Amino acid sequence: MALVAERDSFDELMTCRLSAAPRRRSPCSIVIFGASGDLTARKLIPALYHLHKDKLLPDPTRILGVARREKTDESWREELFEALQTHSRTQPVDRGAWEAFAPKLAYCRGDLSDPATYRQLGARLGEASEEALRRNLLFYLAVPPSSFGLIVEQLHAAGLLHRDPPEPSWQRVVVEKPFGHDLASARKLNERLTRYIHERQILRIDHYLGKETVQNILMFRFSNAIFEELWSRGSLDHVQITVSEKQGIGNRGGYYEEAGALRDIVQNHLLQVLALVAMEPPVSLDPESIRDEKVKLLRSIRPIPPERVDEFVVRGQYFAGYVDGELSPGYRQEPRVRPDSNVETFVAMRLLIDNWRWSETPFYIRTGKRLPLSASEIRVQFRPAPNVLFAAACGGRLEPNALTLRLQPNEGISLHFNGKVPGTSMTVRPVRMHFSYNAAFGAYTPEAYERLLLDAIEGDPTLFIRRDELETAWRIVDAVREGWGDRPLTNREFYPAGAWGPAAADDLLARHGHTWRNPRPPEADK
Ligand code: NDP
Repeated sequence: MALVAERDSFDELMTCRLSAAPRRRSPCSIVIFGASGDLTARKLIPALYHLHKDKLLPDPTRILGVARREKTDESWREELFEALQTHSRTQPVDRGAWEAFAPKLAYCRGDLSDPATYRQLGARLGEASEEALRRNLLFYLAVPPSSFGLIVEQLHAAGLLHRDPPEPSWQRVVVEKPFGHDLASARKLNERLTRYIHERQILRIDHYLGKETVQNILMFRFSNAIFEELWSRGSLDHVQITVSEKQGIGNRGGYYEEAGALRDIVQNHLLQVLALVAMEPPVSLDPESIRDEKVKLLRSIRPIPPERVDEFVVRGQYFAGYVDGELSPGYRQEPRVRPDSNVETFVAMRLLIDNWRWSETPFYIRTGKRLPLSASEIRVQFRPAPNVLFAAACGGRLEPNALTLRLQPNEGISLHFNGKVPGTSMTVRPVRMHFSYNAAFGAYTPEAYERLLLDAIEGDPTLFIRRDELETAWRIVDAVREGWGDRPLTNREFYPAGAWGPAAADDLLARHGHTWRNPRPPEADK
């Protein structure tokens, strides 16, 4: 990606805009498989609507939806408009913008396994008067993962998807998660897809990477020399990354019984965030340079021997408890969950990275459902001050410095340090210097899917997962699964809904002299 820097002055500050040059936003047709599904209504259409509203979609763009349910173009548009009232990040929905957007939408009814569906789709794509709409194609697979391979095969058989479409046309496939359920199945799926298209045409989505604050990790690290100097085992004691969710599994019991927290969050979001926090500086901002460094980092994570899994990993499952004062059912009582399920709703891991920068610096990662609040954050804990002067006088109670990158909600960055409490006595107290995204930039935050869809249209793969990244991440979590085997959960692995995970998770850190630092509730920042 070639980058151009445009400098302009802004309120005495210099802002430096890096934009891809040239932006290749050629007219295209976007085909959404799974047009009647939850993801389409909640995320994809609202994102496309906002891209249209912000004049970021190529002109013209067509959006064709494919699913089994009986619908017409008109009834699909009406349903999506209805859903937009709830899911649009801007309210009220701009009627004028919607009316200009809606004619771009068309619906194709059909079963994914039926070749006639693809013939019909081909016919509808062929209706477009402009050639670019017939030859530039983005296929979005928002369907159950078992259909990913089938769709690519059928599109290829119908002559709609080619490995090398004639220049300057392009064809790409966005694949939703989960991509496989272990290394073997991910490899199999990769092999199936690359029989028909190049790896570079496959965009494996992890919507976490589209979040502003996640993108800011690299900018924060590599545009601020003061922190990067300290970013290594010499200055850092350990790092904690938390992705906590207050919600349970809702009506996704069937899916969750197959996935569990390890596959649902650790394999993708948590390991991706870890890679961004710990990777080496890339040689350039080129997508492959960034992805090369992420893979190198994932490969340097010390393998967890399955027979020693309990030394490094804790799992948990919630039982009934109170969240925000309301009684929540236990996981085993949730709909479509087996009453004796051993599926983990919580995972905490201690990971070591065997490279020069991080040797023996623990990275603790954790995720869980029905925790006290929904938040994602990275806490970088510096080494404690030497045990002399104030630290000696405080008898080990002096807080070490820490930097918190809050990914959501209340996006921001805080530096924690110690200060003297004003007064005649010498009292030291931790204080917090806080940067808030909202305060600095206003509340405008595009949804992750907006950025990712635009990148997919432009063919920028930086924020999508490359095959080797994906397979390396699966190798890490497969070892954990193997270690757990079909061992039932023990008492110490259960936690009440509304707690920060099982007691075993605290022990995991306590063994190394550390404690979890829980994200602050949003009201603490008001
Ligand atoms: P839904 O179950 O809500 O929707 C599935 C869609 O696939 C429906 O439109 C359904 O159409 C279509 N479909 C299924 N089988 C066929 C078939 N044989 N022929 C034609 N169409 C078919 O799923 P979601 O929208 O929740 O998820 C879609 C994908 O996105 C999944 O891979 C999921 O893992 C992933 N994902 C979803 C997230 C979310 O928040 N929803 C978040 C992250 C990933 P119809 O019912 O009309 O047959």
